[in-house]
Amino acid sequence: MTVKDGARFAIEVLRGGLITARHFAVNMARHSLRAIGIRTRRTGAVTIQYPEARKQVPSRHRSLHRLLTRPDGRPRCVACMLCLTVCPSECISVEADEDPDPEIQKTPIRFEIDLSRCCFCGFCVEACPEDAIRMDTGILEWGRLGRDDLRIEIWPGPGPGRKI
Ligand code: SF4
Ligand code: SF4
Repeated sequence: MTVKDGARFAIEVLRGGLITARHFAVNMARHSLRAIGIRTRRTGAVTIQYPEARKQVPSRHRSLHRLLTRPDGRPRCVACMLCLTVCPSECISVEADEDPDPEIQKTPIRFEIDLSRCCFCGFCVEACPEDAIRMDTGILEWGRLGRDDLRIEIWPGPGPGRKI
């Protein structure tokens, strides 16, 4: 490393330190003013103590998929495969069976999503003609040790080794 590089490096480290110090001072001032009853236009930054405390996710978030059911408990999904067709990640797999109701014709006996490939675009939800699939479970934590564990069965439900 040349002297010029070393000087540039030191300046950048100093600049980073000053930015951090500025954020600390501004947040500290905002919190202190609020503590004594003076409201500032903006609140100080707050660190969420995750996982003990969690931030509320917006109502329009996209989280783990779920299949909606009919009043009798059967899935609303008619295994039309439209969601599979539009899925850009090709991460949905559906195993279909005949439905005894001739109006419904087909029903899924297994509905699986590979979360290691899903990009959470929501196309499957938009494409479904039965409004049978939604991404509103609020389940966002699925850290796993292996990719295979990210194949999540959303119907009939999480199976062995695939717990959410
Ligand atoms: S959210 Fe997008 S990528 Fe994920 S399963 Fe649905 S269509 Fe596929
Ligand atoms: S979830 Fe909707 S689009 Fe996907 S197979 Fe079922 S009915 Fe068709």
